[in-house]
Amino acid sequence: PRRILSGIQASGALHLGNYLGALKRFTALQDSGAPCFLFVADMHAITVWQEPEKLAAQTREIAAAYLASGLDPAKSVIFPQSAVRAHAELAWIFNCVARLGWLDRMTQFKEKSGKHKERASVGLYTYPVLQAADILLYKATEVPVGEDQKQHLELTRDIAAKFNNDFGVPGFFPLPDPLIQGPATRVMSLRDGQAKMSKSDPSDMSRINLTDDADAIAGKIRKSKTDMGVMPAPDEALDDRPEVKNLIAIYAALSDQSREQVTAEFAGQGFGAFKPKLAELAVSSLAPVTAEMRRLMNDPAEIDRVLKSGAERAAEIADPVVDEVKRIVGFWRA
Ligand code: ATP
Ligand code: MG
Repeated sequence: PRRILSGIQASGALHLGNYLGALKRFTALQDSGAPCFLFVADMHAITVWQEPEKLAAQTREIAAAYLASGLDPAKSVIFPQSAVRAHAELAWIFNCVARLGWLDRMTQFKEKSGKHKERASVGLYTYPVLQAADILLYKATEVPVGEDQKQHLELTRDIAAKFNNDFGVPGFFPLPDPLIQGPATRVMSLRDGQAKMSKSDPSDMSRINLTDDADAIAGKIRKSKTDMGVMPAPDEALDDRPEVKNLIAIYAALSDQSREQVTAEFAGQGFGAFKPKLAELAVSSLAPVTAEMRRLMNDPAEIDRVLKSGAERAAEIADPVVDEVKRIVGFWRA
């Protein structure tokens, strides 16, 4: 049976990349009929420092974003990762299945740990193993994510295959398929066409946050990096114009058009003409989502009800799976 699962870290304000690469697509998948599990990854968030007094609010904010973008708690299970103990239990067992050599290849760790990898938390290093546990606990078959998660999904498949093989339980864990689709699977920073738009980027000007107001969005787009040229023709290759390519991709994704349609409309115009149009589109697309998020955040009781009931429903699926894994591994039980 199909089962869809994805998560977003409670590591700060959501941005346009999260919206286009993840959130916007969950709602469409929810209506495909397969059960959906969407969690708030608070255990992943603490792989880098999070202020304890802010973490719960950040968790509620991601839950609010799920609800505001159209997820229905009657159809989808929405829950905080840390509220289901089985995630940590299975992650430990998977730490003993995964090989150091596999983790050494993970590019996200290299990017996030920067120049001083000896100062990164051990959690940041083993993060993809916890992610494998998140997915396989629910025996998920499809995982909608942005392009940046492709390598981690491959690791999840490797862990599933090695577990099934080492313990002689063929097919126990399904090998999940990443769903990396749509026109904006990798939205880039507004300041640097080579870097992914990220919550953890120290520059707030690099991203459009879901909580930004219209003026902030317009200002960030006006100041976004471009080049000396004008808007390209539809047949122009944009590999050496990554910032321009990114703005066009954002416009296409927000307006549900192809890149060709967008370039055909703006070819030859200056950025001074294009950027205000893009800002207008971004504001009108995000406004309903952010307004609903704000409404929900004003009454945390509603969000807390969703998260509590989601955690109970998630544990009903996850607990028997981790119990079975402990039996397969050979742990003592009475
Ligand atoms: P952090 O910098 O803390 O890792 P993040 O911005 O990468 O934050 P995550 O919570 O790690 O956000 O990712 C949530 C989802 O959003 C994932 O499916 C991820 O692939 C997707 N995503 C993140 N950044 C982008 C982006 N720039 N473009 C498209 N999808 C993205
Ligand atoms: Mg990330």
